[in-house]
Amino acid sequence: MKITVVGAGLAGAWTVRALLEASPDIRVCWIDRAGGPAKGSSGNRAGIFKPILTPTETPGSWLSVQAFRHLVRELEGATYARGYFSTEGLVQIPQDEAEAKKLQTALKTREWKRDMAVAISADGIREKTGHVGRFPGIFFPKGGWLSPAGWIHASFEDLKSHHEDRLIWEWNREGIDPQATMSHADAIVFCTAEDSVRLEEFRAIKTQIIRGQISIIRSAKFTVGPLPAAFHEYWIKLPTGDVMMGATHDRDDSATDPRPGDHPRLLERIGPDFLKVFEGDPHALATPVEIRAGLRFGVDTHMPKMGRLPRSSETWDCPVYALTAMGSRGILWAPLLSRILAAEILGHDKVRGTSTPHEAVQKIRTMVGFQHA
Ligand SMILES: Cc1cc2nc3c(=O)[nH]c(=O)nc-3n(C[C@H](O)[C@H](O)[C@H](O)COP(=O)(O)OP(=O)(O)OC[C@H]3O[C@@H](n4cnc5c(N)ncnc54)[C@H](O)[C@@H]3O)c2cc1C
Repeated sequence: MKITVVGAGLAGAWTVRALLEASPDIRVCWIDRAGGPAKGSSGNRAGIFKPILTPTETPGSWLSVQAFRHLVRELEGATYARGYFSTEGLVQIPQDEAEAKKLQTALKTREWKRDMAVAISADGIREKTGHVGRFPGIFFPKGGWLSPAGWIHASFEDLKSHHEDRLIWEWNREGIDPQATMSHADAIVFCTAEDSVRLEEFRAIKTQIIRGQISIIRSAKFTVGPLPAAFHEYWIKLPTGDVMMGATHDRDDSATDPRPGDHPRLLERIGPDFLKVFEGDPHALATPVEIRAGLRFGVDTHMPKMGRLPRSSETWDCPVYALTAMGSRGILWAPLLSRILAAEILGHDKVRGTSTPHEAVQKIRTMVGFQHA
């Protein structure tokens, strides 16, 4: 079976892996309109992952627990990508008393397993992070960070070496020309995020694009007292000793390339306190290591979407699937959903590469699938 996967971000990269690992009979053609993988939102240096804590269970928080467990297992086995992720824990630091209360309520009203989330006192936060605060927060023992771009490149190299004869790739190629794309494929999977899976065309699904960008600043020291409010939400440490700091802001165009005004606008938004973090460190005020923009693409339910698209488009005459709408949680959603999608495409009853129970898989399919008439 030949499958074309369009899009080389997190969704595409996990889908290619899931397909190749699900069956030795699959051949994958992987394409992207950019000049290489991880040029869209997944080009971020690092993003965080953790389960979604809500006081009562919501579809999103339930799914996040399944996805989080799966992600941690995937990463702990991902020897090919060492250095591009950590599952060593993540601290969520409240900004004020009200937020601290909210977090503790969310923690207490549901019984969170200790591998998911535990309370951490203000002293505990100080010991772990050096952050001086007065409020308790939450520690996610297996939470952490992943470099989407780093992981995608490492995974690609790993797949090339293990499945050389079953994987081909073409960059600088648009995937929306139906004839060209279908001529190679028994099925097509769109992992193109923002604009080219025309979901509306298939069945009026309301889509939205959240514009945002992130900057990564090199910092040698991190011990100059309280962090400015814009930053002290999470604590993560990169293996290089750099600290990732980011901020997002909306802008009125949807281009993913950074613009000259982006950096001053970011600084303006996060405020003068920002620079204080670096006081006493002569190297730290250097310009950002990277400033880039990315789009977060979602649908009106704020849930990811995955599965076969309803056949309401005349344009495509082979099965068309999508894994998309991952919004600001692509790191969390993509690994599990891609395994389930691979099983669906291949008609496998059992999903390979996960220990997620069968009933949970069935529930996820219903939850995130596209509506069929
Ligand atoms: C500022 C910012 C911060 C974020 N922080 C986090 C975080 O902390 N934790 C987290 O989990 N997530 C985070 N995210 C979200 C995460 O980055 C996204 O959910 C994820 O990268 C989306 O992956 P994707 O593969 O769906 O899309 P993308 O990475 O955008 O990949 C889509 C690919 O499709 C290609 N493409 C599009 N159209 C076509 C076409 N017609 N033909 C061929 N190729 C095409 C593009 O070139 C692109 O490579 C953040 C996102 C942003 C922007």
